[in-house]
Amino acid sequence: MSYEDKSIQCSDCGTTFTFTAEEQELFAQRGYTNEPKRCEPCRQARKSQRFGNRPQRQMYPATCAQCGKDTQVPFEPREGRPVYCSDCYSKAKLSR
Ligand SMILES: [Zn+2]
Ligand SMILES: [Zn+2]
Repeated sequence: MSYEDKSIQCSDCGTTFTFTAEEQELFAQRGYTNEPKRCEPCRQARKSQRFGNRPQRQMYPATCAQCGKDTQVPFEPREGRPVYCSDCYSKAKLSR
């Protein structure tokens, strides 16, 4: 099966861009059946937008193994693994 360059109008900015034969082949290889709706700059913009909207790192409630204070850690606390509050953590680091 052979492909031909195709002109598509970007649904975001209205620019006509070329969906090249190479890209069409790539799309087919990956099993994509839909044609791209946006030009390259718009696709990039959307990508970076999504990246920018990424929610903050999830924090998990934990109890400090050193002072017993309630704290939050950026990873899920595991059974048997001590978790320290930021105070104790920095102290532990310093004492090393
Ligand atoms: Zn566009
Ligand atoms: Zn602590």
